Amino acid sequence: MKQIVFISGKGGTGKSTLVSSLSILVQNKMLADCDVEAPNLHILIEGKTLKKDDYYGAKEAVIDPSLCVKCGLCRETCRFGAINEEFKLIPMKCEGCGACTLVCPKKAIRLEEVKTGETSICSTPRGTFSHALLDIGAEGSGRLVTEVREYVNKYKKDEEWLIVDGSPGIGCTVIASITGTDVVVVVSEPTKSGQSDLERVLGVARHFGIPAFVCINKYDLNPELTLEIEAFCERNGYPVIGKIPFDPSIVKALQEFKTPIEADNERITKEIKNLWERLVEEIKKLETV
Ligand code: SF4
Ligand code: SF4
Repeated sequence: MKQIVFISGKGGTGKSTLVSSLSILVQNKMLADCDVEAPNLHILIEGKTLKKDDYYGAKEAVIDPSLCVKCGLCRETCRFGAINEEFKLIPMKCEGCGACTLVCPKKAIRLEEVKTGETSICSTPRGTFSHALLDIGAEGSGRLVTEVREYVNKYKKDEEWLIVDGSPGIGCTVIASITGTDVVVVVSEPTKSGQSDLERVLGVARHFGIPAFVCINKYDLNPELTLEIEAFCERNGYPVIGKIPFDPSIVKALQEFKTPIEADNERITKEIKNLWERLVEEIKKLETV
């Protein structure tokens, strides 16, 4: 199974919209949404849940009042101010470091795992789909992305492709998203910040030795900057495999929870089909190197 992860320097460049379109156009594939902090692919791809699990991504101290003799050692030791004057835990402040458990003379404190999100695997008419949601403000996003990918491994059959909606940015969720993938496609847009984000995220792919391709979304909104981005990509050996024009029908389709392909816009459909065909060609070229 060839793995392709669509990423971007920041959210809102259109990568989920593109992945949702490919979910209709590409056959024999699995899908995954690794943007666990703000997933939205499931809004556009309905399916039947095969399995849903709680995700325990953090630990928290639990104080047993029946054993506590109020010696104060845990409170003195906690660097995060997570134990109050009555020797009760302030959960929001606890980092789960475990230092208090080491100093308690009565073994009145233990660490317990805390639920910080959910993972889901769904059967959809477009292929098996793995996704997850991290609780607001919770930690462990990188490990949750790894869980999403592990579900793919558990449920894969003989699919030819895995198409992943990756996380935006350049942090640990992106690194977890692209780990072990065959190629990445960076979805950019022709703005100054988009250009800068593109260069940064391409740097992450280069660092991990993953072949990277570029798609410029809404390219016609700033043709000069699009030319600059194309020149940068050419200089640095990143093929631009697609340029998608801005089209109000895409916005309308999304407002109706539809993919751009379902908007019956021939021009957009053709551009996205071309992008996929070019990507497949580029992947074949990589195999012969
Ligand atoms: S260290 Fe243990 S016994 Fe002492 S106050 Fe904390 S929980 Fe209670
Ligand atoms: S686990 Fe760490 S952060 Fe939490 S209460 Fe104990 S010492 Fe403080």
